[in-house]
Amino acid sequence: MDRLRKMFALVADDNGATTSAARIQQHILGSGIQLDDFRLRTTMERLRFLGESPISFEAFVALVSDELMMVNRTFNRELVIPDWQEFCHDIELVFNRIADDCSGNNANYIPILRDADPNKWGVALCSVDGQRLEIGDVDTYHSIQSVSKPITYAFAIEQEGTDFVHQFVGVEPSGRPFNSLELLPDSRPFNPCVNAGAIMTAGVVASSRTEQSAREITEEIMKLWAALSGDLAPVRFSEETMLSERDTADNNFAIAYLLKGGRGLPRGVDLHKMLDLYLSCCSIEMTASLLSVAAATLANGGVCPITGQQALSTEAVKKSLSVMQAAGMYDNAGVFTLEVGLPAKSGVSGAVLTVVPNLMGFATFSPRLDSYGNSVRGVEFCRQLVELFTFHIYDSLSGGRSGCKRDPRASQHNRKQRDLSDLRWAVSHGDRYALKVRDLLLECMIAITLADGEIEEPEIIIMAETYTEIMGHQPQQGELQAMAESRQSEIEAGGSSGPFEQLLQRLSLEQVQLDDNVRELILEAAFRVACADGIIEPEEDHQLRGIANALGISEGVLELEIARFQRQHPSRGAAATD
Ligand code: GLU
Repeated sequence: MDRLRKMFALVADDNGATTSAARIQQHILGSGIQLDDFRLRTTMERLRFLGESPISFEAFVALVSDELMMVNRTFNRELVIPDWQEFCHDIELVFNRIADDCSGNNANYIPILRDADPNKWGVALCSVDGQRLEIGDVDTYHSIQSVSKPITYAFAIEQEGTDFVHQFVGVEPSGRPFNSLELLPDSRPFNPCVNAGAIMTAGVVASSRTEQSAREITEEIMKLWAALSGDLAPVRFSEETMLSERDTADNNFAIAYLLKGGRGLPRGVDLHKMLDLYLSCCSIEMTASLLSVAAATLANGGVCPITGQQALSTEAVKKSLSVMQAAGMYDNAGVFTLEVGLPAKSGVSGAVLTVVPNLMGFATFSPRLDSYGNSVRGVEFCRQLVELFTFHIYDSLSGGRSGCKRDPRASQHNRKQRDLSDLRWAVSHGDRYALKVRDLLLECMIAITLADGEIEEPEIIIMAETYTEIMGHQPQQGELQAMAESRQSEIEAGGSSGPFEQLLQRLSLEQVQLDDNVRELILEAAFRVACADGIIEPEEDHQLRGIANALGISEGVLELEIARFQRQHPSRGAAATD
């Protein structure tokens, strides 16, 4: 069928002859792309013009012809995260889990932060293809505080050049609190993410703009923020924050004088102007939604995914991300890099901006802070995310053994398909490894079938179906029944360790040789059998967990799988496991 016909079929009404604006919009939204996306502007304008009237195939072709490439990618889910809906469900699960955590306290050095609603909790995500998800309080404006620092640094690099900037600011992690007065042995601040470095960076920027006031320069930096966040909503300035920051800036003044008395300030810039610029950058107000798009722009090398505009040069982005990686999370940056392994920057307002290079950016907002000044929920969100997904920069080192963490990237999806077809082909030719996989797959399915001691006809049917789907050919006649019966008689015969325990031992031994895709296949096969009657019985749940554990698959990944099952069978409500 012609590609256009296939696209039309994806949105056609039951009669197959027409579609509607609502159906088309719904299908686009399902991909994660928003209806105001610049790449679909013409199509959307035409759709609005058509209103509610039925759209024939010919009208559809005329509608999408100008933006065919983007419509095609969106319709056929050929975006960087193809299965966007599933990904969103997983993220919601993490979001909800963390919502209960009320530990930590608001920053209390200025009233506007002290009095902010501590219960606010929002997560916004944007992929490098412009797919967006927003949950909770993503539209609450808050000062960006230290989140401003890596962007002011990038601005400085672009305006003044890297060499000049680094004559005044270092790039070493400090390991000290953000407001520490300590400097490098050569009297430069450690890096642009601690106050001393950010104040000096502001000084570098201010030093060449003698005609402009600190506020005017801030407005230019706000324009950069607006470009980074795709002009989604206004980037604001909080006078109240600025006034309070000035009132409580003694420590920052101390740092500024120390810098002035040490190496001196760039081009003899006025100390007050330098501090005013630093404090005004902290007083810029944005939302998690805006920050997530800015994070995605960084993930995309400086090109904003929702406008296509190059907001920052890739070189400046690379440097900014490197500094974030080394020092973005205050004096907990080392632990954060170890556990999360992503460039991120937090601010004392409760914002965290995180970048997954080449995939997406996200921002969280929750004002309660830990002892380092990082948002408790924000950090926990990052931690849980990398427990479930292969987002840690070094997850790519896993040699295909990450504990079956999810990888929503399109590239991984394609790799899985390729591996599966290789496996099928290899089984048919007697490859030893492939046969072992087949064997383990069968044993696990049978173990789940026998979880309740019975061999039921529907279970044998599901097993055969699953086997056929995964292996690409049907099992031999009566093979499954015979294997199941043989295991059943072993169980009845008793013995010190039953067949299930033996299977777990075998899985634990063999798993070192199995890559993630194969482990996932085995778990998936067992899982499908467990779900055969639409409900996961407690005994089946227990065995599934045993199999997952023996395969080295984390509890969290299994939870995602179970949640997915529950979503696909809403009529069953919760599984019998609760
Ligand atoms: N505005 C704060 C200060 O200079 C810094 C805020 C932050 O670390 O997020 O003390």
